[in-house]
Amino acid sequence: MRTGGSVLAALLVAAPAPGGAQQRGIDVKSYVFFITLPDSGRAIRGDALVNFERRAPGDSVLTLDLVGMTVDSVRLARTQYGPSTPFTYDGRVLRIPLRPDWGSPLGVVVSYHGTPQDGLIIGPNAHGRRAAFADNWPERARFWLPTVDHPSDKAAVTFAVFAPKPWLVVANGRVSRGAWTESRPIPTYTMVLGAAEFAVSRHRALISGRDTIPIEVWTYPEDSAYADSIPFRRATEIVDVLQRLIGPFPYEKLAHVESSTRFGGMENSSAIFYAEKPYVERRMGEGVVRHETAHQWFGDAVTERDWHHLWLSEGFASYLDLVAGAALDGDTLLARGMGRNAESYMGSDVVDRPIIDTTVGDPLQLLNANNYQKGSWVLHMLRGLIGDSAFFRGLRSYYRTYRDSTATSEDFQEIMEAAAGVELGWFFRQWLRQPGYPQLDVTWQPDPVTGRVLLGITQSQKAEWGQFRLPVLTLEFRGPEGAVLRRDIAVTGRQTFPRIDVPFVPTEVRVDPGGKLLLRATVARAAGN
Ligand SMILES: [Zn+2]
Repeated sequence: MRTGGSVLAALLVAAPAPGGAQQRGIDVKSYVFFITLPDSGRAIRGDALVNFERRAPGDSVLTLDLVGMTVDSVRLARTQYGPSTPFTYDGRVLRIPLRPDWGSPLGVVVSYHGTPQDGLIIGPNAHGRRAAFADNWPERARFWLPTVDHPSDKAAVTFAVFAPKPWLVVANGRVSRGAWTESRPIPTYTMVLGAAEFAVSRHRALISGRDTIPIEVWTYPEDSAYADSIPFRRATEIVDVLQRLIGPFPYEKLAHVESSTRFGGMENSSAIFYAEKPYVERRMGEGVVRHETAHQWFGDAVTERDWHHLWLSEGFASYLDLVAGAALDGDTLLARGMGRNAESYMGSDVVDRPIIDTTVGDPLQLLNANNYQKGSWVLHMLRGLIGDSAFFRGLRSYYRTYRDSTATSEDFQEIMEAAAGVELGWFFRQWLRQPGYPQLDVTWQPDPVTGRVLLGITQSQKAEWGQFRLPVLTLEFRGPEGAVLRRDIAVTGRQTFPRIDVPFVPTEVRVDPGGKLLLRATVARAAGN
């Protein structure tokens, strides 16, 4: 997602307890939600069919997250009209004892009602008309949907929504006879419905192999012409570019939906929600569209198995946003974007913590410059290290291998090592598990006798950040009459003293002129010359 200013503070207050009812012995295969939305007020009624497999026969309780609802009954799917099976519900967790002779797979139907405290937002939209929008990230599906509310248990989902008359409904997947079905497994945090008075416009469809994938823009009618002509003008081209770089678009359709999400944009699988305010104020850019579209591959189709690997979602979307932008508008877009990402990371308050920060329990606190900006730099530096060909080959292989499943940073490392044919443990350890970044103090002086330039390079970052290994650091020597020479050196320890033959007397030395590394450097000509 893209975060929006004051949104985070509000979310932190409403954050549910972290954890989720992640269950080792249960694998949810699909959910079918029948949701009745109200004509007035905010109370809903729901029937949820949860189809699951019991991996371990000994696991005798199905535990579902559901916060603040009233549970009316729980029935076995095969005896839907029979008596309720026993359950306990404490207002946060629904526990359904499973008899051993029920076998596997199993389906249970949970009937419930209540007013969601969060997760499904019903109220006036930016134009003052009623609308309903889900907003589940990270663990807010549980406020209105009984689920195993953790990214490690992805499932297919169907929404059958009974909505007041003037509303159109959009949700994940394809619509058929009034029900939306996403047949591919997706995380609960991207399961959504939106219901409002919408204008729907169809953009050029995407051709993906033998499939034709509709690309749609759903807006409040007042904002439709603007959305089609400015932020979503190239909605199809963006998917084209990403599909070429990574692999087939993962879903049956892509809808871009104006909504009341509290995030700037939220990458719900095949139905991306965007905050309404930038539409209304006519200041929406294409960057957020590229970012959320890239999430369809990374975050949605390939999902981080645990919140601590969030960079696999946000770092990837932040980087591929710029890579797609560069493919459409030229390489300066990437260079400038990476420069901005470096500045905002280095100026952030998370530089003393690593990207994979297991001390953080609340996923909302992981929406930080480590997972977004530094995460984008990890990919950019990896690409610089192993080259474009191995990098994109690896990225495509990672997508192919983990599509519709979940992955960890170790899974990604293994795939990239195979693509590059080199060991990359040091690289991932250094950039994901170490905090900070290298700060290089560089001094140089020409040796008049040998014609060489003598350099001293010291890693001067604070000791707690550790040392960094930079196998390829580019130095640029500039001399009179436009003379330029670039040389690559390796920095492996705290201090390095290279001597470089330069066919002219330099007047200036630059460090990493191509912006390939996340670092800060000071350069000074040594005194006495
Ligand atoms: Zn994102």
